[in-house]
This record gives sequence, structure tokens and C-alpha cells, in this order.
Amino acid sequence: MKSYGITTISEFLDDRVVFRNLKPLDRRLPDLDMLRERVGMTPGRVPRKTEPDYARVIVHMLQAAQDVDMCQDKIERLVLVGDTRFNDGTAFANICDASGWIGRAFIGSENLGRPEKMEQTYTENGHELNLGNRWSSLADFDSSCREQGFAISAGCAVIVDVDKTALGARGRNAHLIDRARVQAVADTVENVFGQDFDQEAFRTAYDLLNQVEYHFFTADNQDYLAYICLILGSGMYTLDQVVADLNCGRLHTFGQFIENVDKYADDLATDLFSIHGDIYSKVLSGDPTPFKAFRYNEYLTTVGCMGQSNGKVSMSWLLDNEIVITQEVREMVLRWKERGALIFGLSDKPDEASLPSTELQEKGFLPLHRVPAWSVGTD
Ligand SMILES: [Mg+2]
Repeated sequence: MKSYGITTISEFLDDRVVFRNLKPLDRRLPDLDMLRERVGMTPGRVPRKTEPDYARVIVHMLQAAQDVDMCQDKIERLVLVGDTRFNDGTAFANICDASGWIGRAFIGSENLGRPEKMEQTYTENGHELNLGNRWSSLADFDSSCREQGFAISAGCAVIVDVDKTALGARGRNAHLIDRARVQAVADTVENVFGQDFDQEAFRTAYDLLNQVEYHFFTADNQDYLAYICLILGSGMYTLDQVVADLNCGRLHTFGQFIENVDKYADDLATDLFSIHGDIYSKVLSGDPTPFKAFRYNEYLTTVGCMGQSNGKVSMSWLLDNEIVITQEVREMVLRWKERGALIFGLSDKPDEASLPSTELQEKGFLPLHRVPAWSVGTD
């Protein structure tokens, strides 16, 4: 591993980035609200990455970007670079289906404990997935595309997944992204309880309920989990009680949990009462990221571990303490951009965790894709 200097992912994505709410930072492109009618979506809801509606919205955005660039070539091919076979693979297949473009995806997840390997497989509808266990295999993916006449140049759109692909590569540096999020939950709970914050009890509850076997309760939603940890911190329920209720079937869903809390909300301290009220109303209105204070803290903990060191540290220290840009992705995408491909970044991170508040913006804080970070990759 080697450091390739400090840069930003906007170096190769520009403002062609959308976060979870599907509002492109390039204001010349239509956002979800402008596209809803064209894709036949009901107002209010934001589709998730694996839904066909998400794909339809992205296709419109890519075509609009091509028009803004006044590119003569119509998009005919699609490349997606991501890190999860299910999420990214499904989004990729849906986008191919919605557009009629011929696609190839590279899904990377580094595993240095295994011999280097790139496995080719196909989605249900026959779209090609290349699963690589080295991020450096992206260069081989590019060569094989070229050899087979699949040009990643003008007429090809390239979708780059941000989380754990362009930033914090899976199998190499992704734990830092998770660590920043857990730290944000802890900071949020600590901000409420101050000196009474029990770090150890928090960690025990978080680690236990974050497991797959409790997804039926948390819906694998980090906002819900953060809220549960907050309520446990207040002493209204103990972790043992919640686990016992889940085990015997008295408690099934998060909705039921927050409803129970609401029944006794008068017992909560003033601060907590108002936080609960705010989250509860957002949950009822269907907001999938209802715990705003936690997500604002996640923005801070995330940018707090980007580009901090002076570059004189070891690579292992850097990979274990900072979120870094994936050099192999950066290098390849820059090359594709030079060849005339249309580049577009997708992030599943909530907007609140990716963009600074107005207050922070005035202090000079930047959107995540413009925050400087070290770029690290194989030499
Ligand atoms: Mg990802």
C-alpha cells in the first residue's frame, strides 16, 4: 500500500453525486421531486437503492447529465463500480433493465488472505457482474472490457458507488466508516446524558442489537438503533428487559417499541421528552432517517477522520485511523473520464450525514465529496 497524496472524490465525480434523498449536488440536474411524475411515483417516499423506481430516477438523471454536457453520443453502455453484490448488483441490473443499456459491473471486496481472483457471474436478467477480491483488479476489468469491444468511453455511463467503494474501500478501510457511525451514536447519547452517560452499557446494547438476528426489531436501521440506545440510556427499559420481550414475542417491531415509549413519555426528562417527540413524529410520517441529531453527528465524526494526518504516518496507521479514498478507483475513473465516459456517484448515506448544516457551512465545512482525504492504494 502506498499513499498517493491528498485529494477529494469530487476530483473524479465533480458535483455529479447523489446521496440518499436523490438530490444531485449538480443543480443543473433534475432531482427526485422533479422526476417523480415522469417515473410514476407517489409523492413523499424516497425509493431505496434496490427498488426499480430508484433505477428509473437514476436513468433520467444520467440522461440529463449527458444533455447538460452537450454530448453527441447517446448513452448505450453502463459500468457500475460497487462493493456489495446485493445492493449494488441489484441497482445495476435494475438500471440496465430500465434503460436498455448493455452493462458490466465490478464489485470489489478486498481479501488479501485469499489468492487474487475475479469471478464472472450474471444477474437474473443476464447482466454481467465481475466479483473481484482485489481493488487493483479494476484495471483487469477495464482491459477485459476493452478486449471484448466494450468501450468505457463516450456513450458509456459509469456509476461509482461512494460508500465503501470510492471512500473507505471494503475489505481495506470500511471499518472506519462504521466506526465513525458508532461514534456518532455514542456522541449523540452522551450529549443527552452528559456525565451520566454509561459508555460500557451503551456499547453492550449497541453491539448486541446491531446483530443480524435483531434486524427484525431494528429493521437494520441505524437511526432506530440509535434511538433504542438512547432510551436504554435513560433507564426507562433495561437491555435485559428488551431482549427478554423480544425473545418471548411480547415485542416484535421498532414501531411497537417507540409507541410504548410514547405512552410513558411524560416520565422522560425534558430534553429527552422533546427528542423523543421529534423522532416519533418523523417515524409516523415515514421518514427513514428520523434521528437527525445522530446523523448530523455522523457527518462530523466522518469528516473528523478524513485527511487529518500529515502524511508522515505508516500506511497501516492511516488505514486504521482515517477514511481514505480508494486509489485504484480514483485512477481508473479519472482515466474513463478522460476517455469521455459520463461519471456519476451514488451514495446511500443520508443527506444529513453527508452535507454540513448551514451553520457548519458558514464555518467552512464542506459536503463529503469535497472533503480532502488521503488516497491510498496498491503500488
Ligand atoms: Mg457501498
